[in-house]
Amino acid sequence: MAQTHILGYPRIGARRELKRAQEAYWKGSIDQQALLAVGSQVRSQNWRAQQSAGLALTTVGDFAWYDQVLNHSLLFGVVPERFARGAADNKLDQYFRLARGRAPSGEPVAASAMTKWFDTNYHYLVPEFTADQEFTLDPEWLLAEVREAQQLGHNVKPVIIGPLTYLWLGRGVDNALSLLPRLLPRYQELLAKLASAAAQWVQIDEPILGLDLPVQWRDAFAPTYEVLGKASGSKLLLATYFSPLRENLPLAFDLPVDGVHIDAVRAPAELVPAVKALRDNQVLSVGVINGRNVWRTDLARWQQQLQPVAEKLGDRLWLSASCSLLHTPVDLETETTLPAAQKTRLAYSRQKLTELGSLQQALQPGAGRLEAVTATESRPQAEIVAELADTWRAQKYPERAEVQKHRWQLPPLPTTTIGSFPQTDVLRLVRKQFRNREISAQDYHDHLRAEIAEAIRRQEILGLDVLVHGEAERNDMVEYFGEQLDGFIHTGNGWVQSYGSRCVKPPIIAGDISRPNPMTVQWSQYAQSLSKKPVKGMLTGPVTILNWSFPREDIPRAESCLQIARALRQEVQDLEAAGIGIIQIDEPALREGVPLRESEHREYFDWAVGCFRYCCSEVQAETQIHTHMCYSNFNAILDAIVALDADVITIESARSDLRLLQAFAGGSALDNQGGYPNEIGPGIYDIHSPNVPERPELVSRLRQLLEVIPQEKLWVNPDCGLKTRSWSEVGAALLNMVEATRTVRAEI
Ligand code: GLN
Ligand code: ZN
Repeated sequence: MAQTHILGYPRIGARRELKRAQEAYWKGSIDQQALLAVGSQVRSQNWRAQQSAGLALTTVGDFAWYDQVLNHSLLFGVVPERFARGAADNKLDQYFRLARGRAPSGEPVAASAMTKWFDTNYHYLVPEFTADQEFTLDPEWLLAEVREAQQLGHNVKPVIIGPLTYLWLGRGVDNALSLLPRLLPRYQELLAKLASAAAQWVQIDEPILGLDLPVQWRDAFAPTYEVLGKASGSKLLLATYFSPLRENLPLAFDLPVDGVHIDAVRAPAELVPAVKALRDNQVLSVGVINGRNVWRTDLARWQQQLQPVAEKLGDRLWLSASCSLLHTPVDLETETTLPAAQKTRLAYSRQKLTELGSLQQALQPGAGRLEAVTATESRPQAEIVAELADTWRAQKYPERAEVQKHRWQLPPLPTTTIGSFPQTDVLRLVRKQFRNREISAQDYHDHLRAEIAEAIRRQEILGLDVLVHGEAERNDMVEYFGEQLDGFIHTGNGWVQSYGSRCVKPPIIAGDISRPNPMTVQWSQYAQSLSKKPVKGMLTGPVTILNWSFPREDIPRAESCLQIARALRQEVQDLEAAGIGIIQIDEPALREGVPLRESEHREYFDWAVGCFRYCCSEVQAETQIHTHMCYSNFNAILDAIVALDADVITIESARSDLRLLQAFAGGSALDNQGGYPNEIGPGIYDIHSPNVPERPELVSRLRQLLEVIPQEKLWVNPDCGLKTRSWSEVGAALLNMVEATRTVRAEI
């Protein structure tokens, strides 16, 4: 009989208990003991869910106090030197210092960089290596969790990130692979420890096998796993996900591992080659339940496809979700307000465990045929791309820039922010009261206007040049639009971890999308009425709304994106007509939607970039279009960013070194055209950390930026929106930013 297991389970807790506990601990309102207790409760609930769904193995090691990659950095002693000074007096606080720059004990310090985990909206903490990096082993947290699960009676399968993926994810050395010989012995020791902890199986994740790997990285797999296979007293399950293995498929199956997991949702065509490549003693784990979406699985289809495989492999066939369930919400049972008709179409993590059991049953000899779900017809992607072919604005950027300069009369190095201001406790409370119908729409509305007025007043006092209304009306930059648009389902508890304690609640695209009413116009118009300075209109772009929603599975993503773009284009027109002359269309998710395999990039950019331009191709030359993205390493997608043709782009850059910005200055593909053609605001301070940046450090950052970016193109702004910060942090930081800009302006 086929076996069932998962690669990982969400760790936020069914009611986001962990998030609440973390934040309370950081604030000092609970002690470490209380936090530890919540963590252990979440773990035992997760394990019990797997056990009671009848999974053969319980996955352990997928829990993290902040991030699973950071877990590995601490596991192997990858702690940059700056964290040694003012170190915290206990391990967990030291961990939080690495993650967020501060903890209840220890001194504040610059946090580790964060970046997106493959093509997901999950952010991991980037390991920072040095050329003389030494690795140590501190496996206690992992072993303790293994023991904890064993004591609760689980058949434990620990999960770790493989050495090659771990090195690949790090930064700081030109060739991280050169560190492998020093890292490998620590992995050997770790595997030995896990084996003596009686782990029969260890899952070792190497998702980089789904990437276009440089040859030296591919070549490193065989010798690495030769060593690990020998070292391990446990059986090794090599897990790959998010992308087809293609040329790496034979390589993966040839490794001396006891099983391989493939993502059959992203790469259904690889099921047959995988079965062929499987060695006699190996297990094939097939990820058929989508770990990246919330729709119920078409089990009938899998029953049919897997039947011959199940017959051939017997208990060497393992059924699983495509990837860790980290990327889906926890439990549909906690949804109390969703209509039954919608609920029956959905499956969250817990329900996915049940689906695994159902599929397992359906693959038993003699099991009846499951009922098939009929697929809908949809038009081909090529047609959608053709529809988007010509969406350029009538005037080119240089012409537009002239008109805009004349209209706005901004000082050099104009200062602005990315859109959101602190979502205060009061604001959250008022929103909650409104949702629970404890206050009227009118009261809620009045409160939002008061928040907007306050944001404008503060920005005027700070002396910022281009203002924002502050997004008080938005719980979340995607959910808000999802709620205004037709075609979405909104969940009450569909939370997914984004980073650390931060969770998002992606809306679900369930039908065709349209805009029944203007979505943002009244707020922007009100904000603009309070100031003579320009107030930016603020929209979330079509690609981001799509990528941060759970998409339909019955039509191409491009089709939904175009539907969203049509709605946003109407909104842009309405904003312009209402006198909003600067409109920002955020696309922070453009990059994470890029397929992991280069051969698929072109097709993605054709529709994604086309959809963005489609939103604003009808606006006047004097209307300034901004866009924003929360990352700075554009090298791979610079051409696409240029093709968005926004007048101004603001990006994250404070945590990265200046080299990354070289692309914009002409250090890359666009060399001969002199770099990024339009205006750019590289964030000058990190908003993820609660530390307030000092003026001298901002002044020197600005001076450095002026060395790479021409003065007439440079804007000054933070890395990202400020909704997660408090007003006291934001006020102090922005004041320093404005003052630093004045200092540097005086020098030019
Ligand atoms: N305008 C949004 C904000 O400021 C942008 C957030 C983002 O890029 N993630 O919150
Ligand atoms: Zn951002």
